Amino acid sequence: MTYRAPLADIAFALKHAAALPAAIDEGLLADLTMDDVDAVLAEAGRFAGEVIAPLNRVGDTVGTQFKDGVVTTAPGWKEAYAGWVSGGWNGLAAPAEWGGQGLPQTLNMACLEMWNGAAMAFAVGPLLTIAAIDALFAHGSETLKATYLKKLVSGEWAGTMQLTEPQAGSDVGALRTRAERAADGSYRLKGQKIFITYGEHDLTDNIIHFVLARLPDAPPGTRGISLFLVPKFLLNADGSLGARNDIRAHSVEHKLGIHGSPTCTMILGDQAGAIGYLVGEENAGMACMFTMMNRARLAVGLQGVGIAEGATQQALAYARERRQGRTAAMKSSESAPIVAHPDVRRMLLSMRALTGAARAICYATAMALDRSERGGDAAARKAANARASLLTPIAKAFSTDIGIEVTSLNVQVHGGMGFIEETGAAQLYRDSRIAAIYEGTNGIQAIDLVTRKLPLDGGATVAAHIEELRGIVKAVEASNDPAFGWTAVRLADAVDSLARATAWMLGRRNDADAALAGATPYLRLYGATTGGCLLAQQALAAARLGDDAASRTALARFFAENHAVQAGGLERTIVEGAPGLLGADAALG
Ligand SMILES: Cc1cc2nc3c(=O)[nH]c(=O)nc-3n(C[C@H](O)[C@H](O)[C@H](O)COP(=O)(O)OP(=O)(O)OC[C@H]3O[C@@H](n4cnc5c(N)ncnc54)[C@H](O)[C@@H]3O)c2cc1C
Repeated sequence: MTYRAPLADIAFALKHAAALPAAIDEGLLADLTMDDVDAVLAEAGRFAGEVIAPLNRVGDTVGTQFKDGVVTTAPGWKEAYAGWVSGGWNGLAAPAEWGGQGLPQTLNMACLEMWNGAAMAFAVGPLLTIAAIDALFAHGSETLKATYLKKLVSGEWAGTMQLTEPQAGSDVGALRTRAERAADGSYRLKGQKIFITYGEHDLTDNIIHFVLARLPDAPPGTRGISLFLVPKFLLNADGSLGARNDIRAHSVEHKLGIHGSPTCTMILGDQAGAIGYLVGEENAGMACMFTMMNRARLAVGLQGVGIAEGATQQALAYARERRQGRTAAMKSSESAPIVAHPDVRRMLLSMRALTGAARAICYATAMALDRSERGGDAAARKAANARASLLTPIAKAFSTDIGIEVTSLNVQVHGGMGFIEETGAAQLYRDSRIAAIYEGTNGIQAIDLVTRKLPLDGGATVAAHIEELRGIVKAVEASNDPAFGWTAVRLADAVDSLARATAWMLGRRNDADAALAGATPYLRLYGATTGGCLLAQQALAAARLGDDAASRTALARFFAENHAVQAGGLERTIVEGAPGLLGADAALG
C-alpha cells in the first residue's frame, strides 16, 4: 500500500490552524525556524512513505507470532524499528537533557500523523513509549530517571502502559493487581493485565512496563492506585541486563485489526512477585497517569487523522483509475472514471474535508499543549493548559470517529474490491476501529468533555474558545469572497448551535443524566464546528498569501455546506433528544 506524506497540507495546518510561526516569533520554541520544521517534516515523510508504509500489509497478513512466551513481529518490522530509532524519531520532543531533541510537541504530533498514516500497528508502539517517557520524566525519582530515561528516549528500550484488567476497563478504579512493599524499598507486584499493547516483542532488548497496582492498605477506587516501573529484565549494578523479572506475556490476542501490534495478556508475579519501583507517590498513580493522558489521547487522535489520510489517498487514486458508467455528456461507447460521478465526488470530498478538519483540531490542541509548557508567563501557561484540556477529548474522539468514517468511505469508493482484502482498503477500515476504543473510549471522552472540561474556570475556557470561533466566521463574512458560498452563514449557525448547546450543558448541574445522554452528540457538534472554522481560517490564509487558495476555499466551503450544516440537528439531538432518551427504556424491550 502506498502512502505519500501530505507535506503541504501538514505544513499549512501547522502554520495556519496551529499558528506555529507565531510561537516561533514569540521565542517560545528556542531557535527553531520554519525551515527546520519543513526539513523535519520532509525527512519524516520520506521515512514513513519509503520504510514504514511498505510493511503495513505484511504486518496485517502475518501479524505477530507467539511461541513459548516469545513474540516475533512481522518480517521487516525489527529492521524498520531500528532505522526509526537511529533516525532519532523516538526522542523528537523528549527533553534534551535525556538525549531527546526538545522539539515542540506540535511538530512531534505532525510526525505521529505520518507514522500512523504509514502503518498504525507500527506507530502505536512508540506512542506508548512516549507516554511512558512523559510519566517517568514528570514523576520519577532522580535514580529511576538516571537508570531508565535515556534508553527510553532513544528508543533502545520500549515502554508499555498497563492499566486494563478483566474487571477494570473504563473503570480503572476497579483494578486489583497488588503491590506489596519490600524491605529494600522496591515493591512486589502480583496480578493480571489484559490488552497490553506491545506487552512483549522482539523490537528491543528490554521492555519497561508502567503498571498501575494497589497497595494492601490503599483506599478504594482511583484514590488507591499507584504507578510502578517494572522492567522486563532487571539491571545489574553496571546497568547491563540482568535476571528476567517475574512478568511475562501469557498470550497474544486475535483481533479485528492492527494485527502487526501484539496485544498481550500479562501475568505478574507467577513466582515471588514482579519487582517494581514506585513512580511518584503511593496512591497517586492516577495523577501520574493524568500527566501523560492529554498527550497520549491527542496522539491517538492523530492515529485517526493519519489513517484517514491514507484512506483518502487510496480512494482518490482508485477513483481516478476505475472506469464505470458515463457522464451525461459522454457517448454510449465511452466510460468515465468513477471520480467523474457526483456521488463519488461527494465521498471523496467528505474524506478530504473530515481529515483536514480533524488534522486542524489536533494540531491546534498540540500547540495549546506546547504553550501550556513553554508560554511566556504563568497566566499564559494556565490559559493554554485549560485550552489543551478542553480540546483534548475532542481531538481524540472526533478524529478517531472520522478515521472510521473515512476508512469506511474508502471501502465504499472501491465498491466490491473494497470488501476484498487484497486492495488493503479493508485493512485500513479494520485498523481504524480500535482508536475509538482505547486510551479511553470515545463515550468516555464525551463524558470528560461535558463533566470536567466545560466547567473549567466557571465556563470561561469554553466561552473564550467559542468567541474565537465567532471571530473566524466574522473574518469569512468580511472577506466578501463569493467562492466561500454559504460558508459564513453555515458556520455562524453552527457556532450559535454550539453556544446554545454549551449553555444547556452547563445548566444541567442538577440533571447529570441528561448531560451524559447528550455528551456524544455534543462532542460531535463541537468537533464539526471547530473543524469547519479552522478549515475556513486556513482558506482565508491561503487567499491572503495566494497559496492554493482555490482548493482550500473549496474544501472549507464543502465542509461548511455539507458537514457543519449538521450542527442544528445535533443541537436538537442534545437539548431535545437526550432528555427524551432517558424515558425511552421501553424501546430496549
Ligand atoms: C487492541 C487493544 C489495545 C489496547 N492497549 C491497551 C494498553 O496498552 N494498555 C491498557 O491498559 N489497556 C489497553 N487496552 C484496553 C482499552 O483501553 C480498553 O479496552 C478500553 O479502555 C475500554 O475498556 P473495556 O474494554 O473494559 O470496555 P468497557 O469499559 O466495558 O466499556 C464498554 C462500553 O461501555 C461504555 N462505558 C463504560 N463505562 C461507562 C460509563 N461510566 N459511562 C458511559 N459509558 C460507559 C464504554 O464507552 C463502551 O462503549 C487495549 C485494548 C485493545 C482492544
